[in-house]
Amino acid sequence: MTRIPEPTAAHRSKHVLDYVENVMIDFTQMKEFSEDPLILTEGAGVRVRDVRDRWYFDGISGTFCLSLGHGNTGLVEAAASQLARLAVAAPTMATSDRSLELAKTLLELLPPELTHVKWGSGGSEAVEAGIKLARQYHLHAGSPRKVKVLSHYRAYHGVTGMALAASGWAAHKTPYEPLASGFLHVHAPDSYRPLFDVDPQDLGRTYARLVEEVIEHEGPDTIAAFMTEPVMMSAGVLVPPRDYLPRIRELCDRYGIVLIFDEVITGFGRIGRLFASELFETWPDILVLGKGISGGYAGLSATVVAERIAEGFWGDTADNVHFAAGHTYAGNPVACAVGLEAIRQIVDGDLSAHAARLGAFALERLRGLQAGVPAIGDVRGEGLLFGVEFVTDRETRQRFPAADNVGVQVREAAKRRGLLLRASHWMAVLAPPLTTSEEELDAMLSILEDAIRDVFPDRPGMLRPRA
Ligand code: PMP
Repeated sequence: MTRIPEPTAAHRSKHVLDYVENVMIDFTQMKEFSEDPLILTEGAGVRVRDVRDRWYFDGISGTFCLSLGHGNTGLVEAAASQLARLAVAAPTMATSDRSLELAKTLLELLPPELTHVKWGSGGSEAVEAGIKLARQYHLHAGSPRKVKVLSHYRAYHGVTGMALAASGWAAHKTPYEPLASGFLHVHAPDSYRPLFDVDPQDLGRTYARLVEEVIEHEGPDTIAAFMTEPVMMSAGVLVPPRDYLPRIRELCDRYGIVLIFDEVITGFGRIGRLFASELFETWPDILVLGKGISGGYAGLSATVVAERIAEGFWGDTADNVHFAAGHTYAGNPVACAVGLEAIRQIVDGDLSAHAARLGAFALERLRGLQAGVPAIGDVRGEGLLFGVEFVTDRETRQRFPAADNVGVQVREAAKRRGLLLRASHWMAVLAPPLTTSEEELDAMLSILEDAIRDVFPDRPGMLRPRA
């Protein structure tokens, strides 16, 4: 029998909180984190508490997933009763009643063309499945050379093999090169910092033209898929010109390219519609969903596929046309039970409309603040996904040096004042739970305002952050 080794003296003398140095935090330098670690212990509604008994507003919904608040008894009960009934359903040889109920619920919310679903347990998995399904679809359809995947610079599609290769941030990718091959990138449709000096109303057409150029030069018969987030969070909450995605849809139809929307963040009410595809009146061939689908209470994601693509995967055993991939926790019955309850709460509570109303209120209030703080270059977003971008000069839209890390300074100031938000070098982003009340949002915005004033003291002409 294997004996469990005695703990070493070093371990015996170590307090449990000191293990914070032994845990890798996502995208975070451990040394810096361990100097002032955020260790959360409990949540209630839109707030979370840390080990030092400080409460914070959860202004990023965990990480864009906790749409229905902390301590949500409906979700807790859905998980608990399913755990007692059936925790796992032999994923390689069975499905569960819950998975089928969730498929029905989900597909009924989507256009009739989207007919099949591959479950996953996280966003990256669902993106991987989307890319594989697109490539295999072309293989079945007799176009084996259609393998390249086109996506945007500054996109975030996850951190696993192909999802990372499709993402557009060098800093996330370089340490892990060489990455999967066959991934191409094109400039993100940025309206605030347009690449082209054209009339704003021509920007959507111009960016789509750029995509067409890439398709033509690469050879349309080599391109399997075009993938994008309809609203690009990590690119800086980029909301593309309204005609951009319809134009991309048209290009994909013309060149036989599978259009994949990564709605891992934007899906399930976040941007003020149930899906961002509705906002742009453009639906993809493959829709990738995650995060809010379970309200953050279970690892669940979905890759939803159009019928014409799914058809290629239907055949006799000897045809070998099945999707040859799976994950142990994909479509897990507990996760599906939670997903069912999460979707019920979002739809019955009309939380998309609530998010649209609150988002409009937030943008108006932040634009009011912008008038008195010259360092706020832009305020943008959709629904409860919005942010402010900081500049040294509003006219030229000049950014602060990356080393100043002004976004992170604002994030830290907000944290000290009791609000968790997301930051990049130049931006601060809020995405509170869809269940946030007006008063709670008002309180979060007041903290954000104070944090911005902490970093950019309130006097005219003050354009540098406080040292
Ligand atoms: N796509 C998008 C747009 C995302 O924002 C994320 C995660 N932030 C992912 C994919 C990957 O999801 P996960 O972290 O659940 O793997």
